[in-house]
Amino acid sequence: MDCIFCKIIAGAIPTKFVYQDKEVIAFRDIEPQAPVHILIIPREHIASLAEVPESKSGLLGHLVAVANKLAKSEGIAERGYRVAINCGPEGTQGVPHIHLHLLGGRQLSGMLG
Ligand code: AMP
Repeated sequence: MDCIFCKIIAGAIPTKFVYQDKEVIAFRDIEPQAPVHILIIPREHIASLAEVPESKSGLLGHLVAVANKLAKSEGIAERGYRVAINCGPEGTQGVPHIHLHLLGGRQLSGMLG
């Protein structure tokens, strides 16, 4: 198991989950780029957004629904937030296990700020 996020799911890297269900877990990013920076990932190892088969597109909806739920519980839903998925080398994806970034709690700027 080389995937760091699979290790987190398996409990091999102790990590506090801020949300979990049968399909999805969420935890705080280790290098937060904003006051709220949470990663939402499927338990199943899927390497990237590009690897999600059409038959599993419902999983993407579920991941987004969890992001919305966390935005509410983190108190940033009203002010606004960003949900981002980096995909592949030029999309600056560093960890090859699909993940949504939930970012908020400060004024974001541009596409990346
Ligand atoms: P990306 O660049 O889109 O692949 O994002 C990967 C994110 O995973 C980065 O923001 C990292 O800070 C974060 N990350 C890497 N290792 C850990 C970890 N052990 N716990 C929490 N976040 C992590």
